[in-house]
Amino acid sequence: MASITLENLVKKFGPHVTAVAGVNLGVEDGEFMVVVGPSGCGKTTTLNMISGFEVPTSGTLKIGERVVNNLDPGDRGLGMVFQDLALFPHMTVFENIAFGLRVENVPGPDVNERVSRVADTMKIKSLLSKKPAQCSGGEAQRIALARTIVTEPEVLLMDEPLSSLDAKLRVEMRTELKRLHEELKSTFLYVTHDQAEAMTMADRIMVMESGHVQQIGTPLEIYRNPINQFVATFFGQPTMNIVSGQARENASSLFSTEHFEMNLSLPSAPSFGGGKRVSLGVRSENVIIGDDGPEGIVKLIEPLGDETLVFFSCGSEELLVAKVSAEREFRPGDSIHFSFDPLGVHFFDSENGARLA
Ligand code: ATP
Repeated sequence: MASITLENLVKKFGPHVTAVAGVNLGVEDGEFMVVVGPSGCGKTTTLNMISGFEVPTSGTLKIGERVVNNLDPGDRGLGMVFQDLALFPHMTVFENIAFGLRVENVPGPDVNERVSRVADTMKIKSLLSKKPAQCSGGEAQRIALARTIVTEPEVLLMDEPLSSLDAKLRVEMRTELKRLHEELKSTFLYVTHDQAEAMTMADRIMVMESGHVQQIGTPLEIYRNPINQFVATFFGQPTMNIVSGQARENASSLFSTEHFEMNLSLPSAPSFGGGKRVSLGVRSENVIIGDDGPEGIVKLIEPLGDETLVFFSCGSEELLVAKVSAEREFRPGDSIHFSFDPLGVHFFDSENGARLA
């Protein structure tokens, strides 16, 4: 097992494209780290530098205590699983898994023993004599993982390995990967654009945008204390409500927009001074539909089963969304009153999106 350290890692493609703009990250030995961000933010390039498929323009890359900037991919002690599983179609599942061991000239009985053990772990023992084409997408994914972990890499790198699976299988494989990580206790570095994958699997998450690290933290730290509006709205389903307005002086209290005023009853006055234009962020579970507050008109209802999303307007085109118990019934056109849970309110700078204390 090994840690991974990135120190001021930069990757430029030609004079105009900076794919990775100085990333600092320490992945601990045995940690499950997920790198997440929108398409083009530099996730894959970061992973490719760690794996050795891209050479950093500057900065230092360590696996354990070794600087690996100039080491060949094969000498870095890494296992890799990508979206394209690249299983050999003419070989059985057994031979696919055994391939890496055969290349390393591992003796036959040891190959049998190790393939059998890893097939047990991945619950694919019954597939060993099949060909990949006879396996389902989820099974093929597990075979690809088995083929990688059978070589006992110190670090497992994964780039969107679940993105070709259907929604149900993706959710199942998330659980499988977490279980696998618990069992192997090796270092996992996983790249995805899917915030739900990041939230559910990671010990810690690194959020990237435009080549820059936005925030590194545990899923709950990032969900509860996003560093800026980008991170706040990237995580969570539905997306956090953002309302533009002004928080009034000395009122821990009054927030006014073009369309409504609300007494926020904040635990303490915001430190940014009254009159400043800010963006208020509040997640759907912190929007209260009750007897108090401004009036809104229900526009849409989305039942989730145990809870219901109520989308409503309050003077503007943009809808706000509240998550309420499924017991409560609303219909489009209903008039409601809404308020925000003061402990769930965030303020962001209207200009640059930074979180305001
Ligand atoms: P996706 O989720 O779409 O795979 P990503 O976050 O992994 O995106 P990267 O593939 O790392 O993003 O790309 C980061 C930026 O670098 C993008 O703007 C991309 O166009 C650019 N880029 C990546 N590889 C090259 C290359 N070989 N030559 C030029 N530009 C590149």
